[in-house]
Amino acid sequence: MTIASWNEMRESEHFVQFCESDVFLMNTLSEFIGTGLKAGDACIVLATKPHREGLEERLQEEGLDVATSRERGQYISIDAATTLSTIMVEGSPDPGRFAEVVGSMVVRAARGGHRVRIFGELVALLCAEGNQAAAIRLEALWNDLGEAHSFSLFCAYPMHAFGGEVYEMEFTEICQQHSRVIPAESYTVLDDPEERLRAVTLLQQKAHSLEAEIAERKRAEERLRISENRYRRLFEASKDGILIVDPCTGKITDANLAMTELLGKTHEQLLGQELWQIGLFQDREANLESLRELQEKQCIRNETLLLQTTGGQHRTVEFVSTLYQENDHEVIQYNIRDITERKELEQRKDEFISMASHELKTPVTSLKGFLSLLQRRLATQDDEKALYYLARIDAQVNRLTKLINDLLDISKMQTGQLVYREECFDLDALAQEIVENVQGTTQTHRLLLEGQIQAEAFGDRDRIGQVLINLLNNAIKYSPQADTVLVHVTQDQNQAHVSVQDFGIGIAKEHQHKIFERFYQVTDPEEKTYPGLGIGLYISCKIVKRHGGHLWVESKKGEGATFHVTLPLFHEGKKQASR
Ligand code: ADP
Repeated sequence: MTIASWNEMRESEHFVQFCESDVFLMNTLSEFIGTGLKAGDACIVLATKPHREGLEERLQEEGLDVATSRERGQYISIDAATTLSTIMVEGSPDPGRFAEVVGSMVVRAARGGHRVRIFGELVALLCAEGNQAAAIRLEALWNDLGEAHSFSLFCAYPMHAFGGEVYEMEFTEICQQHSRVIPAESYTVLDDPEERLRAVTLLQQKAHSLEAEIAERKRAEERLRISENRYRRLFEASKDGILIVDPCTGKITDANLAMTELLGKTHEQLLGQELWQIGLFQDREANLESLRELQEKQCIRNETLLLQTTGGQHRTVEFVSTLYQENDHEVIQYNIRDITERKELEQRKDEFISMASHELKTPVTSLKGFLSLLQRRLATQDDEKALYYLARIDAQVNRLTKLINDLLDISKMQTGQLVYREECFDLDALAQEIVENVQGTTQTHRLLLEGQIQAEAFGDRDRIGQVLINLLNNAIKYSPQADTVLVHVTQDQNQAHVSVQDFGIGIAKEHQHKIFERFYQVTDPEEKTYPGLGIGLYISCKIVKRHGGHLWVESKKGEGATFHVTLPLFHEGKKQASR
């Protein structure tokens, strides 16, 4: 709007100017008031202190005598915030007070037949406070006042006060309250009608893309709501206890139903607690140590611990803790599974295996005794057929004995009762002996022994022998189409390295670490089934580890397997230490 348009302004008008910058507001304001003063109008300025001061400076620069105008009552300048505080009641402008304070001011200014111009910043202050609703009510009060008295009122709003979709209704309402709406300066500075059309077109495009963006945001919000809903249902329905912990404070921020049931505590009782306080760690130090470890590893799996519940019961739990980023902060999630029943079952199974293998051992031992008596007796009678059958029985009894011994070993390992002898022994001789013995049990395979280390190993000779027998028997068993098994004995720095290589069915990658677990057997529908219990490698692995060595496999399905055993070699210090 130019000076000319201020002059053209009707006597009674309520218009609004939106502004993007304060400088523009001051320019417009000084034009509006300056024009009024020059025309002899009475001017009322309800503005903030900086705006009132800035305005007076500009008016004086234009050569207007503000002081005289003020003395004559032609220029009235009042603080907007003070005026506002006198007319507001419980966050809303009071009509009675408005009429009393502002209405009477207008009447006084109009005395002597002056036209009245008002600049009001009260509404802008209300908007800045976020009270757009009060601003709209105030605009309505100005309109009511305009019905009774004639004045032209200039309201100014900073455009940024309406940034956000939520203000769409308020903005429309404010525009409706005014007889004239003047866009912000980025539009009004354009003089050329062509340029103005261009600006409007650009604004239309912006409005469209904003609408599209808002629609997309709403869809994203909906997706988020659905996913949050789903997460909540999973969280609450989970049979595992779930705890959410703030890593900064170590305190619980959320817990699901299963967790409250497991601990026998309410949700409220759990919130704000640290994990050691609910018995998940022995003490604060252990709790802090675990938090530190988690910061380092991000995820800790399958820790088992004994938990005491509120009812005094002990439960064995297994838990996985994960640290992850949620928006701009980290959270820890603990998934806690009650494995008490599983543990009890395992224990009962162990007890059963131990008892059954003990019970089986006695009859099998006497079976073996009577068998050898019978073999000796028949040997004198030269009954070839009978001797052949006895040899078959003997082989089966040996298998049975081995199975029972393995089961007994497992039981002893579980209870820590397996005793290991400690001695130095000649590993080359042991390998030779075992290869010869196992060769005696097979007619299908040739066992080839290569390499020597000429050094002594340290530990339980029989147990290491048991490992080699197991590896050789497996090599033969799992290579029915092949005829060779290679055994290599080498020295690798200060450890012995024995490898047993076969050319049989091999082991697929996904099974390779599992075959060392208790009772694990690879089942393949394309393969025939092989007899066994799946405990030989478990026992072998335990024995090798107990000797400070390693047992591992290299294999490809269909291309055979090589099992490797490393054992530390004997040195004097070891013998001393073991004494
Ligand atoms: P098992 O009595 O079943 O042989 P082990 O513990 O000795 O028990 O072996 C576990 C499983 O590992 C076997 O069931 C078999 O699937 C696999 N395995 C062991 N040795 C070999 C091998 N040399 N070649 C292929 N698979 C093997």
